[in-house]
Amino acid sequence: MAAILPCAICGKKADFFAPPMGPFCSEQCKLVDLGKWLGEEYKITEPLRPDHLAEYEDMEGPQLDIPER
Ligand SMILES: [Zn+2]
Repeated sequence: MAAILPCAICGKKADFFAPPMGPFCSEQCKLVDLGKWLGEEYKITEPLRPDHLAEYEDMEGPQLDIPER
């Protein structure tokens, strides 16, 4: 299924509403959006500290099934 939509970052219209780019025209715009999240959105949330992760240390389950490299 194709859709012509404007890029979420630069507004360029193209048929890129599909994996792996999502609503972005290029990897560049995808990274820009990611940077906005990391640089701005995260500032209004509480910074992640080690003690936040401590409560997950004893947890086991598929949600923590991180592939080994
Ligand atoms: Zn773009």
